[in-house]
Amino acid sequence: MISVDTMRCSYCGACVSVCPVNALDLQETRLVVSEDCFECNLCLPACPMGALVAAGESSRDLPKVKDHYDVVVVGAGPAGSVAAWEAAARGLSVLLMEKRQEIGSPVRCAEGLGPGELDGLVDPDPRWICAHIRKARITVVRDGQEHPWEPPAQLEDGEDAGVGYILERRVFDRALAERAAQGGARLLVKTAAVGLLRDGETVVGVQAQGVWGRRDISARVVIGADGVESRLGLWAGLDTTLLQHDLMTCAQFLLAGIDIDPECTYYYLDREAAPGGYVWIFPKGDGRANVGLGVQADLVETAPLELLTRFVESRPFLARGSIVTLIAGGVPTALPPSPMVTDGCMLVGDAARQVDPLTGGGIANGMAAGRLAAKVAAEAISAGDVSRASLNRYEQEWAAGIGRRMARNYRLRARFPPAQRAGERFMHLFALTIGAGK
Ligand SMILES: Cc1cc2nc3c(=O)[nH]c(=O)nc-3n(C[C@H](O)[C@H](O)[C@H](O)COP(=O)(O)OP(=O)(O)OC[C@H]3O[C@@H](n4cnc5c(N)ncnc54)[C@H](O)[C@@H]3O)c2cc1C
Ligand code: SF4
Ligand code: SF4
Repeated sequence: MISVDTMRCSYCGACVSVCPVNALDLQETRLVVSEDCFECNLCLPACPMGALVAAGESSRDLPKVKDHYDVVVVGAGPAGSVAAWEAAARGLSVLLMEKRQEIGSPVRCAEGLGPGELDGLVDPDPRWICAHIRKARITVVRDGQEHPWEPPAQLEDGEDAGVGYILERRVFDRALAERAAQGGARLLVKTAAVGLLRDGETVVGVQAQGVWGRRDISARVVIGADGVESRLGLWAGLDTTLLQHDLMTCAQFLLAGIDIDPECTYYYLDREAAPGGYVWIFPKGDGRANVGLGVQADLVETAPLELLTRFVESRPFLARGSIVTLIAGGVPTALPPSPMVTDGCMLVGDAARQVDPLTGGGIANGMAAGRLAAKVAAEAISAGDVSRASLNRYEQEWAAGIGRRMARNYRLRARFPPAQRAGERFMHLFALTIGAGK
């Protein structure tokens, strides 16, 4: 039987079309070879990636990339891309590596940003803004009764200051990565970190595996921006494992063909529909919206997908829409691990659990962390000291800034057990956290 180099296969389906015995099956992002394969090798030349390997042969490596950088950033989400562009802007040689073949896809996000969240990080760009948000409606559901409340409008006139956004993350994430590349960072897609290189206790690079083969890439500092599924922290000896109650497990539909206010975000605090979390409806313009919910993982009795289906079916204004995209994801609502750095290595974004514990928003936090980490890494490299003590300034500055707000919101969440979150007090608190009701 032939075999498939799974890191190299790009799911194009070309090989399937030439197999005379129907031994190949493309299962969304996985090519499966059945036992019917009789090794005729007709499919091998059809593959543009060189991903098919004849029986008894092994995969050939492609040309090498440079093997040493000042900084290697693992993960090209918002946190990693900002870290890479900031480090490159400070004159460092930077590699930004991403395991997916397309940055920003698949999306695992409701794409909402509150007023002012992007300030000082990146200028708003119409290419990646779907909707401008000027209102919010929060509905508390108690005993099956809905109690909607619209906090005072964020803004009376048409100015954009103080306006929230719904992003097109596919475009946003890619724009950030492209900006890093334009600033001088080297970008490699379809390349995963599979381990760390060490010199004693110090992290001195990553083991990478990807479309260009497997190789060791050394670095003065490695920045782990590998998202909720981060393994880099654990490899580096940092405790990033989440407790069940610190994970929101989420399902979301992009619905098309619905009629909602395109400038309003909708939230439902409803114990039945979303235990320990909430339901959101974020408009994306043209009769579309991200409709999703998050459930605290220790409270899951029914899968979020099923809860979401019920929620949508029970509301005619949503039920008339069509599901264009189905999204699943996990949001860490823990406090960042302490420490977030070790000798030669730092964590940023979801990998460092830098998500707001009340709202689950992590895009802007991750970007701010990426920038701060790159600044501290650059200073440490220039001082010739990348030890934990030196990189620890990142952790200190984080704790004194956004980290302080996160810690407060984590305590507030703990003070309101899930049963009390469908109440007036929590609703007002929630409104302030999403940037409404100021
Ligand atoms: C359903 C849902 C809704 C959300 N809604 C919102 C919202 O409305 N607003 C908001 O602000 N936040 C929201 N969030 C959170 C937000 O999506 C994250 O906080 C944000 O994406 C974090 O950015 P990041 O760069 O840290 O990680 P990510 O965006 O997850 O990027 C991590 C990247 O690392 C890559 N990677 C992972 N492992 C490796 C490896 N070994 N080698 C190479 N690459 C690797 C991944 O492929 C990925 O591209 C939501 C999350 C979910 C799941
Ligand atoms: S080697 Fe021949 S039989 Fe096997 S999967 Fe390829 S085309 Fe089909
Ligand atoms: S032709 Fe190559 S890249 Fe395309 S599905 Fe087949 S093995 Fe994968």
